[in-house]
Amino acid sequence: MIRITDILDRVSDYTSEEDLGVIERAYVYSARVHEGQVRMSGEPYLSHPLEVAGILADMNLDPVSIAAGLLHDVIEDTQATPEEIEELFGSEVMHIVSGVTKLSKLRFTSSQARQAESIRKMLLAMADDIRVILIKLADRLHNMRTLQYHNNEKKQVKISQETIDIYVPISSRLGIYWIKKELEDTSFKYLMTEEYEKIKSLVSKDQEEREKYVETVEKYIKKKLDDAHLKGEVLGRDKTYYSIYHKMTDQNLDFEDVYDIIAFRIIVDTIPQCYEALGLIHSLWKPIDIKFKDYISRPKPNMYQSLHTTLFGPYNERMEVQIRTWDMDKVAKSGIAAHWSYKEGKRPDEKANRAYAWIQDLVENQENFLDPGEFLENVRIDLFPDEVYIFTPGGDIKTLPKGATPVDFAYMIHTEVGHQCVGTKVNGRMVPLQYVLQTGDVAEIITSKNHHPSKDWLKFVKTVKARSRIRQWIKIQEKDRSITLGREMCEKAFRKYRLNFHTLVKSEEMDKVVTHFGFKSVDDLIANVGYGKITPLQVVRRLTSAAEPEEKDKSIFNRLMGRVRKKKPRGGVSVRGVDDILIKFGKCCQPVPGDPIIGYITRGYGVTVHRTSCINALKMNPDRQIDVEWNVQESETYPVKIRIRSHDRVGLLADVVGNISKNNANILNAQTATLENKMVHSFFTIDVEDTDHLNRVLSSIKKVKHVLEVKRIG
Ligand code: MN
Repeated sequence: MIRITDILDRVSDYTSEEDLGVIERAYVYSARVHEGQVRMSGEPYLSHPLEVAGILADMNLDPVSIAAGLLHDVIEDTQATPEEIEELFGSEVMHIVSGVTKLSKLRFTSSQARQAESIRKMLLAMADDIRVILIKLADRLHNMRTLQYHNNEKKQVKISQETIDIYVPISSRLGIYWIKKELEDTSFKYLMTEEYEKIKSLVSKDQEEREKYVETVEKYIKKKLDDAHLKGEVLGRDKTYYSIYHKMTDQNLDFEDVYDIIAFRIIVDTIPQCYEALGLIHSLWKPIDIKFKDYISRPKPNMYQSLHTTLFGPYNERMEVQIRTWDMDKVAKSGIAAHWSYKEGKRPDEKANRAYAWIQDLVENQENFLDPGEFLENVRIDLFPDEVYIFTPGGDIKTLPKGATPVDFAYMIHTEVGHQCVGTKVNGRMVPLQYVLQTGDVAEIITSKNHHPSKDWLKFVKTVKARSRIRQWIKIQEKDRSITLGREMCEKAFRKYRLNFHTLVKSEEMDKVVTHFGFKSVDDLIANVGYGKITPLQVVRRLTSAAEPEEKDKSIFNRLMGRVRKKKPRGGVSVRGVDDILIKFGKCCQPVPGDPIIGYITRGYGVTVHRTSCINALKMNPDRQIDVEWNVQESETYPVKIRIRSHDRVGLLADVVGNISKNNANILNAQTATLENKMVHSFFTIDVEDTDHLNRVLSSIKKVKHVLEVKRIG
């Protein structure tokens, strides 16, 4: 069992004495709260946080990480509270320990194995400090090392599978290969015990012989390096059982054919020396060209650098050689952690900074880091900043954009679920539909058969799918309504001309009318009558164009048509899905761009636009409501009525008028009434561009002396 002094020794190699205090205090505290707890191995529980801290020290992490490693289980497994941790060790340690606790609380079921990628992303997204992930990896590593003490075989398999699915890819992504390999090999042992044991016995069969071989080759390479005046270290190492197994199954080889179970690593001081050593090795043995990889000139995204080559070595057996510098070796050991591992008083290497673009992308405010300590302080993992990960009640994980709401979630499950969504339970509690989902939330959508989407949903949904499904639904509804209305209008108009709409609607003549107006179908035509885009009389006229209406009818006809023609389509408002519609503005409420508005389909005279707050809008038949939106292109102005209450004084009106015109608003009408109590009520109709313009005018008038109240009316 590792002792605290071993850890302090390791850490003091790269940090100053005074920074060790927090580690010692964390140790004492952890020992106290874990007192009496025992691991399955029978060891005191404290051995676990100690081992975790030891692993973190091997990665040269800062004292805060080591302290957090010692404390990583205290919130979950003891009486300790985050408040207490913060008080004793500061907010940074508390933040990290809480982060680890949060991740430990997530329980994955086997049904989620296929969603491993989502789970990995979720873990990374939930850890807002990369040290949380590093501690989690160290924690998992030690738990895997002691998995044999787990008395439940099924659990061993489950934990190993989770390790393979989740933690191996994360350690690989972060470039911490030694952890990746060890996790992989240990999981392999539990998941495929038979294969593992077989390879293990095969490897150990000629152990002695192989060791001798390794030693010989090591010495030989070392001598050649010396001859070439290259200072470096040569290490022979066995490949992991898992990588041998992987090679055998991948390339369909027998064990005897997997020669390169031994790899050599040459570590030198500088990059030129790496290439020199490579040349030397290639001159000794014949390289297998396609196996050569230059990760020095092209580092892996996680900043791993090395030269990899495979050769026909001594005895013509294949042999892998990796060549790298000491710095690169360090990176290979701690992955991204190496970049900012604690180096006292030393700035991060400028060149390294540039090469490691990947990690820089992880980090906010990257350009502000002056020293590794500061860098570390500010490191926030933000691998997937734009996504949140949400559980279904069944345990599936859905990936949604940040800011997504239960409605987005519902539409992601199924369009019908979205349409019928009436409420949501998040983590067991009812939340409003506008609730912003957080990673890790379990969301349950409540549906009702009779429920329909609301256009208000469009204001808060975040996904394209939800938006387009809601729009589609509204459009279909509006078209249905318009068809009903258009039919009603046509029937009436046809009756006036003693025509039978029901017969004519199926006639060839009607098809011609449809083509004439450029529609696709009779329904389309009728819907457009409903929208007010064309009038029923236009349809009648077209249909009967061969036989002109009689004189007396003509007058009515012209009068009606004339009225329609005179009203030029008013710009500034558009109806979704329909262009060129006849628009009028309600005189009752005088909408101005910026006002929330709603359209009302009139019988034959297009759409009247009201403010949604207008009393007439509230009273109107919902079947004739239609969505409209402001679509102001050029500067157009709109009349609006305002009322000003003030005390009378000389020059008051002039000041009010001055303030209106100062703000470039035209006065269309003005009325003033002086009441007996010296109060003045003035009514103005002014032309404004939009609500902003109106508000500017209103607040300007408010500043006039003796003005008590300025109000938009209608
Ligand atoms: Mn633990």
